[in-house]
Amino acid sequence: MSETLTVNYNNAPCYDIVFDTSFDELLGCISELGFADRKFAIITDTNVKDLYAENLASMLEAISSKVIVYAIPAGEDHKNLDEIRKVYSVLIDNKFDRNDLIIAVGGGVVGDMAGFIAATYLRGVSFIQVPTTLLAQTDSSIGGKTGVDFDGYKNMVGAFHMPSLVYLNISVLNSLPGEQFASGFAEVMKHGLIKDSDFYIWLLDNMYEIGEKDPDTLIYMIKKSCDIKRLVVEKDPTEKGDRALLNFGHTIGHAIEKYKNFELFHGECVALGCVAAAFISWKKQMLSMEEYYEIRDMFVPFGLPISVTDIDEDEVIRLLHSDKKADGNTIKFILLKKVGKAVIDKNVTDEEIREALKEITWSEDFE
Ligand code: NAD
Ligand code: ZN
Repeated sequence: MSETLTVNYNNAPCYDIVFDTSFDELLGCISELGFADRKFAIITDTNVKDLYAENLASMLEAISSKVIVYAIPAGEDHKNLDEIRKVYSVLIDNKFDRNDLIIAVGGGVVGDMAGFIAATYLRGVSFIQVPTTLLAQTDSSIGGKTGVDFDGYKNMVGAFHMPSLVYLNISVLNSLPGEQFASGFAEVMKHGLIKDSDFYIWLLDNMYEIGEKDPDTLIYMIKKSCDIKRLVVEKDPTEKGDRALLNFGHTIGHAIEKYKNFELFHGECVALGCVAAAFISWKKQMLSMEEYYEIRDMFVPFGLPISVTDIDEDEVIRLLHSDKKADGNTIKFILLKKVGKAVIDKNVTDEEIREALKEITWSEDFE
């Protein structure tokens, strides 16, 4: 049996997130939304196409006038306008009109790109998210942020465009490589740390079951994580205020991600960024030393790093200031006032960041 969460937008119900262990109820959900007999364009990537998208296309033919599958080459390197342009051409060639439906089947890259296509094709068509990575199921498919990278800047071009449905089949996580699962888990931890200390403790207590991908545990974890993201985006749908709290771990995390030329997984950088931000929170006497060390060590059993080698602190700080979220020279840093309560802090100094970077730099001298 599936479970559902409804996400509001401008104080009115906007779309449902359905949690399931199969795709059995997807057809019913799409029909209920009034899309039966319309054309469907499944946008996926070259990995997920054979795993799930082709099968889904066969299923969906039962309720559609035409189903096409388009696979973008997998990976962040292809999250750009050149790939988007190719999809517009396919939609035009197949005579997609404003009443037809885009279906994103894949991870966060596919979700962001398909969402952007839906936001812009014919000035906006409907789309639904069928996220297949842990990151996409707990984070990126919710909230309506869509977009692509541009000239080395992440998510520089995009639009807010709400999905009509987010359908999560958690069983697809069984085929997800372990490091991708771990990467997504960093965002789950982030959600607990910024908004919900009980959930954070639950994560600590259920470490083993999560690692084993126990279905009941995963459903609870993913639902809770989605609920936290829902609450944040409902309050601030277009990131004018509190939505910035979701950037916890991302200020230093993004700078490290760039510094390492995107060779680390996003979640690995987020874990490092969370540790660094928790360290600064401790140094500013918001967290106790015990809390800081507990947060830091919590990432380890999930295969996430808490230290990194070969960091040029000055260069990472320079990259951090060049991030689009830096407003002039003031950085909106997200710190933890306590576990489960994040705050925006505009007074973090380069010296404090340097200390935090030293804390997460692994050196053989310490062996
Ligand atoms: P991804 O989409 O690149 O997926 C990771 C890899 O897993 C890919 O190779 C993909 O082909 C593969 N894959 C996907 N599902 C699979 C499955 N079930 N089994 C096996 N392999 C599978 O990366 P991601 O981590 O899902 O998403 C990262 C993207 O999300 C970034 O571009 C980031 O900017 C974006 N993001 C967006 C938001 C938002 O609010 N819109 C939030 C966070 C992140
Ligand atoms: Zn992230």
